[in-house]
Amino acid sequence: MVGRHRGFTLVEVMVVVLILSVLATIGAMGWRNAQERAKTTACVENRWQIERAKQVWAMENSKRPDDEATLDDVHPSQLKTLPTCPRGGNYTIGSLNEPSRCTACP
Ligand SMILES: [Zn+2]
Repeated sequence: MVGRHRGFTLVEVMVVVLILSVLATIGAMGWRNAQERAKTTACVENRWQIERAKQVWAMENSKRPDDEATLDDVHPSQLKTLPTCPRGGNYTIGSLNEPSRCTACP
């Protein structure tokens, strides 16, 4: 029974806590990056929907490429519900020959 350890030393417990905190930090950073990528992807998809609606509206109304479109032109005739940016940005459609933009996303 001589020399037998019972439980953990303070240094061993501190090393385990340090390792767990490093892993938790790495996991939190990965989670945050995944959330940001998901928001960007959702906003890109919203802009694709707006683009499709804009092109259909332009064809149905015989618009020229440099004509301007607004969200009121495509909603609700082409878009039943207006998409909302997950970052709270506003969408601008602009002219028919340029892509729609979001004020909050790249
Ligand atoms: Zn956006």
